Amino acid sequence: MSSTHPLHFYNSQSRQVEAFQPLEAGKVKLYVCGPTVYNDAHLGHARCYITWDVLFRTLQFFGYEVTYARNLTDVDDKIIQRASETGTTPEAIATTYTQRFHEDLARLNTLSPTIEPKATEHIDAMHGMIATLIEKDHAYVTDDGVYFHTPSMPTYGKLARKPIDALQAGARVDVNTQKRHSADFALWKRVEDSAETGETPYGWDSPWGFGRPGWHIECSAMIFKNLGHQIDIHAGGADLMFPHHENEIAQSECCSGHPFVNTWMHNGFVNVDGEKMSKSLHNFSTVRDLLEHYDANTLRYFMLGHHYRMPVDFTPNALNGAKTRWHKLLQQFAKGMQVAQLNEAWLKEAVRHKADCAVLHEQHPDFVAVMAQDMNTPRALAEWGKTFKDLKQSQDADKAKALLNTLVQEAWVLGFDLLPALAYLDEAKSLNEGDFHVVDGVAPTEKAHVLEQLEARRHAKLAKDFATSDAIRKTLEAQGLHLVDRAGGWTTATAPSTADLS
Ligand SMILES: [Zn+2]
Repeated sequence: MSSTHPLHFYNSQSRQVEAFQPLEAGKVKLYVCGPTVYNDAHLGHARCYITWDVLFRTLQFFGYEVTYARNLTDVDDKIIQRASETGTTPEAIATTYTQRFHEDLARLNTLSPTIEPKATEHIDAMHGMIATLIEKDHAYVTDDGVYFHTPSMPTYGKLARKPIDALQAGARVDVNTQKRHSADFALWKRVEDSAETGETPYGWDSPWGFGRPGWHIECSAMIFKNLGHQIDIHAGGADLMFPHHENEIAQSECCSGHPFVNTWMHNGFVNVDGEKMSKSLHNFSTVRDLLEHYDANTLRYFMLGHHYRMPVDFTPNALNGAKTRWHKLLQQFAKGMQVAQLNEAWLKEAVRHKADCAVLHEQHPDFVAVMAQDMNTPRALAEWGKTFKDLKQSQDADKAKALLNTLVQEAWVLGFDLLPALAYLDEAKSLNEGDFHVVDGVAPTEKAHVLEQLEARRHAKLAKDFATSDAIRKTLEAQGLHLVDRAGGWTTATAPSTADLS
């Protein structure tokens, strides 16, 4: 662990950047609210899971052993509705969309969480919590289920900073007259057999009647069962802060009597200009649609260009800009591999390894510092760009290799896949055979020879054999050629006047 760079995170609860202190030295318990699996992941999901993927990577990079739990909400009214619309079962809908979610996230180059608990596999744990909450007078039974009584928790509203009185005053008239407070929320919802068909709906038996869990209790139960009563970091989209996360706190703390979460982290919204987007970006709304037209690295590059807490405006221009920039970086990376004389096998091996904090701290301390400071990815990308700039200017094989190693490690932390650079390496390979040097105004019969000389000179320079490279330069200049060296070790050779040769 890098003791020189203690991690700092913005805690949504204290509204401050705080020094991160894990509950247990060297270990982190991280929970992220996962998707409700009834349709394909959209851009908001992409931002959320890319953001927390970078957090998972960052924590590991700084030496923590992380247990990352990301749940699947596989029971929900929306799943049941989708099933009835398509003439299938809720289980089938959940299975289909879980698989599609996994495919999307794999394409986005996110690491798999350590555990992925499913709501339907934690019904007993939810029953246990609900029973405890009723016993401790934090919950009550009505004709349609069980409710958490929010005024029973004096600190209710502490995360979102919404005082309970304000919630009561602003509330609409509730349909359920048995609810004791408008901010009270369902822990268990009873469902009746269908009046028309007599069929039993989707659900489970419980001490409070046949039914289904409320959404909030799912996350609390999955955390209690898999991570314990208290965790280090709970993360999710800003839209979940209220009421979902507020309610998770209420249930969990009233049930266990212990603090629930040390650090709350929330990612900002994604704003999409619907019409403009649909016309210019090929009418996508899902990650799947987007990936038909943009590669995952481009999307990640665009997202990480914004601090995770800030909103993102999704516009075609911005995304196209990210695409151009990203592919330029890949080209530079491939050229750097040429300078360093590294091949495909090297890259494939290099990207397999987790970044090493001690090494990177030595090679590029500024990058490490900005990642340690509330995961400042826009500044990390700027630092990354500096390394690329150094690579572009580097003619020295050893230096280029060191810079490439730095870039590979930084790519791991940020979650970029560098293998697409190999496509540009092929291009650079053919260029290496002569086409990359630009030869102007030389008779066709002479051209191959000039190219050969330029390539010999480039290799001599790479090998630091400056006597040879200078001798070649002098020979070519004696033939009337004007030599201009370009970035990456390539040269333009121009004859003084084409007319003279004809
Ligand atoms: Zn949740």
